[in-house]
Amino acid sequence: MRSKIVAGNWKMNKNLDEGLALTSEIVNMFKDEVNSDALAIIAAPFPLLSGVNGLIKDTDNVFLAAQTCSEYASGAYTGEVSTSMLSSVGVAYVILGHSERRGYFHESDEILAKKTDTVLQAGMKPIFCCGESLETRESGDHFKFVCDQLTAGLFHLDADAFSKVVIAYEPIWAIGTGKTASAEQAQEMHEKLRAHVAEKYGKDIADDTSILYGGSCKPGNAAEIFAGKDVDGGLIGGASLKSRDFVDIIKAF
Ligand code: PEP
Repeated sequence: MRSKIVAGNWKMNKNLDEGLALTSEIVNMFKDEVNSDALAIIAAPFPLLSGVNGLIKDTDNVFLAAQTCSEYASGAYTGEVSTSMLSSVGVAYVILGHSERRGYFHESDEILAKKTDTVLQAGMKPIFCCGESLETRESGDHFKFVCDQLTAGLFHLDADAFSKVVIAYEPIWAIGTGKTASAEQAQEMHEKLRAHVAEKYGKDIADDTSILYGGSCKPGNAAEIFAGKDVDGGLIGGASLKSRDFVDIIKAF
């Protein structure tokens, strides 16, 4: 059965003290208030990972993620962070292919396919992002565009490796804009993505794949979006920086 997941992507926000305070609040509220079987994932900036891990490692349902990683295993790559470094500080998931990485840092499908392999080889799980621009949506090519992103980044994997992947559909026009995809638009794309996975890997694996929605998700709209039968949770940017909002989104299940 697929997991219900709410992942908070802190992006380049929070210093160590702020990040630890936010994590403590989330852990406490989660313990006191969340009674579903949903998982929370915190994707903190690299320097905070070890400290955040110290606060979540004894919980059952809160996991640690990195926001990217190097495609190289080790060596002379100044400034890069390897998957073995991440796993050594308790990271369980790595976000790959966020539109900000694809756009600002020119991460191509080929690089993302390599990063996916590297993450899986290190025993962690990729949260693989896909999503179209407004221009692509208006052209009517959005379903094909987003399915092609999955094909290019993930479909070289064998079935066993693919079954460890979490997908996040994040329409670029909804990220950080306050403009959310409607629940119907999210469900419609998620259904297409699940069918695309089923065509390649079969219905059982497709049914077990968690597909998250991301893009201006907040406490006020999460329940409606998560009600979609193919929507298994959210990847949350801005609203994950406030413990109350993040935990209320988790409680939307
Ligand atoms: C994101 O960047 O992954 C995201 C979903 O951001 P926001 O929730 O702020 O739109």
